[in-house]
Parts: sequence; structure tokens; C-alpha cells
Amino acid sequence: HVVPLRLHVSPERAPDAVLLTFRDLTQQRRVEQMRADFVANASHELRTPLASLSGFIETLQGPARNDTPARERFLAIMAAQARRMSRLIDDLLSLSRIELNAHVQPQTKVDLGAIIAHVCDTLSPLARDRGVELEQVRETADLEILGDRDELIRLFENLVENALKYGAAGKKVEVRLARENGTAVVSVRDFGPGISPEHLPRLTERFYRVDVAASRDQGGTGLGLAIVKHIVARHRGRLGVESELGNGAIFSVRMEALPNPEKNL
Ligand code: ADP
Repeated sequence: HVVPLRLHVSPERAPDAVLLTFRDLTQQRRVEQMRADFVANASHELRTPLASLSGFIETLQGPARNDTPARERFLAIMAAQARRMSRLIDDLLSLSRIELNAHVQPQTKVDLGAIIAHVCDTLSPLARDRGVELEQVRETADLEILGDRDELIRLFENLVENALKYGAAGKKVEVRLARENGTAVVSVRDFGPGISPEHLPRLTERFYRVDVAASRDQGGTGLGLAIVKHIVARHRGRLGVESELGNGAIFSVRMEALPNPEKNL
């Protein structure tokens, strides 16, 4: 917008200088709008399991009071809803903690190979449940970066867990580690249904899901990739996603690698 500007200054009271400050209110409004949307979305996400819990409590206090099999079933659903609320709150807290530290680059020397091995270990029960072979491909022996170990574990857990959840049962998931010049590249590939192009740019938005019901069924909060994006940014890295419908998806993270002491690279 071009806004006409008039200054009314009487000659006898004319100042020596005038300081004009301009602020881009459009950007500020956009940030405020995003914040308001986020609070509205988070409240809605929390209210859904809470409403279900309240409904079951009323049923248990009334009609199902003496119906033991129904009571057991309802209690199991209630426990699952409580777990969902708890996961959501954990994710919201993680997101706000990572955002708070966004400007501080983590400085601990971390071995990415060890992180990936740990993540694959942690997720091996889920892989077994889904009948998926979780394959680690190491194109380089040593791959170290400066980072935050817990956050990196979280980052790759989210990517590998998504590949296991949204990939195809019975097909493999591949986690590849490589060094490209001075860059560490970790990519997670699944061979599932893939993601259509119109969704790709929005995947890292908070609460954005391609298929809300599928995400809920898998216990998703819709915050996993938003957390991934923030951790990658804090490590001054780049997150990429390539996918085609029917051909699986590849999520890749590129971060500056420490020089390899043995090979002098
Ligand atoms: P969620 O908690 O729903 O898993 P994420 O932020 O981790 O949230 O992912 C957002 C959405 O992106 C998921 O709901 C899913 O629709 C889609 N998605 C993520 N990873 C994959 C994948 N490997 N294949 C297909 N879709 C995926």
C-alpha cells in the first residue's frame, strides 16, 4: 500500500528534525493471526478427546454403571483418549521449547550414525508390528555434526515413525546416511502410497494432515513435522521432501558435517 503522508507543523514551532518510523503492520497482523489460529487449533484438538472423556464418564455414572463388559470397554477407550491428550501436550511443550531456543545453535559434537542406530532400535517394535524391515544404509563410516542429541533423536524418530505409520505394511523403510562434500545427509524413505504434490508445501504446518482420520488412528498429533522443521532450522539445516502418489516418500535432512579426521575430508 502507498499511504499519503502529511506533516502539519506551524512555522514558529518547527522542530529541528522529524523522526519517522515505519512498521510493516501487515507482517505483524499475519503473525498475530497465525498465533490466534494456533491457539484455536490447539484448543480444538484438546477439546475433542476431553469431550469424549466427559461423555464416557457420564455414561459410566449412569446407564453403564452395572454393565461390567461395557465398563471395561469404555475404560479402555478413555485411557486411549487420555494418552492422546498427553501426547498432544508433550508435543506442544516440545514445540514451544524448541522455538524458544531457536536463535541458539546447539554446539555438542554428535555422531549421526549412533543417533540413527538408536532411533531404529527404539522403533523396531513398531516396525515389527507393521511387518516392515527397517534398513540402515551407511554410505560413510563417520558422520559427526554439532547439534543437540535429544533434539536430533526426536527429529529422526518423527521421520522414521511417519515412514512406518504412513508407509506400506510389509514393505521396507530405508534410512540412509551419506556425506556430500561438507554436508551430512540423512534420508528416510518409505514405499507407501506417497503424498500428492498439493500437500507437500503444507506438511510442516502445525496440525496439517493429509488424512485426519488416518493420522488419528495412528495416534498422530499433527505436530510431528512442525517439530521436525523447527529442529532442522535450529541446526541451520535444510529439510526436503520428495514424493509421488503411489511411489512412497523421501524425507531428507541436510546439515553441515564436521570434517572427517581420518580421511581429512
Ligand atoms: P501426524 O501426527 O499426523 O503424523 P505429522 O506432522 O508428523 O503429523 O505429519 C503430517 C501429515 O503428513 C500426516 O498426518 C500424514 O498425512 C503426512 N505424512 C507424513 N509423513 C508421511 C509419509 N511418509 N507418507 C505419507 N504421508 C505422510
